[in-house]
Amino acid sequence: MPPRFVQRLSGALVIALVAAAAVYTVGASIDAAAVTLVGGIAAGLAAMGIRSAAPAASGPVAPDVDRVLDEVLDGIAEPVLLVRGKRVSCANQAARSLLGRHIVDEDIHIAIRHPAAADRLAGDAPLPGRPIELVGLGTPDQRWEMRIGETSDGARIVHLVDQSGRYAAEKMRVDFVANASHELRTPLASILGFVETLSDEAGEDPGLRARFLKVMFDEAQRMQRLIEDLISLSRIEGEKYRLPDERIDMGELLEDVYAELAAGGGERVVDVSIGFEDDLPAVIGDEVQLSQLVHNLIGNAMKYGRPGSPVSATVGVDGSGMVRFTVADEGEGIPPQHIPRLTERFYRVDAGRSRSIGGTGLGLAIVKHIVERHRGRLDIASTVGVGTTVSVAFPPADPKPAKPAPATAEAAVIKG
Ligand code: ADP
Repeated sequence: MPPRFVQRLSGALVIALVAAAAVYTVGASIDAAAVTLVGGIAAGLAAMGIRSAAPAASGPVAPDVDRVLDEVLDGIAEPVLLVRGKRVSCANQAARSLLGRHIVDEDIHIAIRHPAAADRLAGDAPLPGRPIELVGLGTPDQRWEMRIGETSDGARIVHLVDQSGRYAAEKMRVDFVANASHELRTPLASILGFVETLSDEAGEDPGLRARFLKVMFDEAQRMQRLIEDLISLSRIEGEKYRLPDERIDMGELLEDVYAELAAGGGERVVDVSIGFEDDLPAVIGDEVQLSQLVHNLIGNAMKYGRPGSPVSATVGVDGSGMVRFTVADEGEGIPPQHIPRLTERFYRVDAGRSRSIGGTGLGLAIVKHIVERHRGRLDIASTVGVGTTVSVAFPPADPKPAKPAPATAEAAVIKG
């Protein structure tokens, strides 16, 4: 008999005896006392019976291991499979979305349509020490890393890690170095060619010499612009996670940039008009970077707008309370398929045209990075044959306080 039961039984006997004695003492008959004693013991035993049954009925339910395992696996964002022998015995939600709902209980060769990887999983060969790289699961250019582990009973746990982002970033870095080298090599080759020519007889001809020197000067300037843009880009990227901290009045900043452009001369400056609302809210920004952004966008509108056509640059507060800087031109416009790629480094709609008017192909990439650092938003809208409007919205430094929510019971609960 378990000791707890003995303890409770003795307790019940004592209570029943005390109750029977009390009944006898207050003057009732011996029979009444005996009834009280037996009833008390019975009640105690019944109570103990109910008590001993209670934990099984209302205590913690034995966990359903399979269900919990499924829930845990479904909570993992990356695809995970359990393979027993040649079959998939379990697959989480992410694995089912990637490989298809049918994969559970399916042969591994059908579930993972990658023969070499499926063989490694199904075979008796020891597990590979390094992850296996898979290309084309899901979409054709998606890249995965397959990590395999083993359970104590020999099942194989397959974990697929999406490496597409890492590969895309690496490809971008390689392309960037190749593009930058190419952009620098072209003017450099031209300068070297002209130096060689000038050192021959051509150098004796004053007319030719002046012409060649002008070309060399232009090419050297092109290299300089490119190098300056590359330095800007890496500096802005380097500051990506450092929030700017100056209070900037975008109207004043626009006036300053316009004054610099006007002082620099250039035939298109007369076509530029600026405007801004009074009492603009300040934005939190980096003045040098915001000036560069305004320069780049007005510069593009002057370059790609038709000669003599107006360019307008304005600042105002938009419907959502953001401070919006907008530049509109009346140029050839941009075909819609190019718009999503314009902020990529060295992406140009017409490379020859861009180079001939002094473009580096980095202006909008720089703008994008400045906008990101300022937690802003860049919008490019264009109609072929009509013109292009580029706008950037920045959050105001002091956002207007939100209207107080109606005092409902629900709101009170959430706040509390
Ligand atoms: P770029 O130095 O070539 O001007 P950007 O990065 O500033 O480089 O712009 C990328 C490309 O976007 C340009 O080469 C041009 O094709 C297109 N573009 C930019 N702004 C405009 C505009 N306002 N109108 C038409 N095309 C534009």
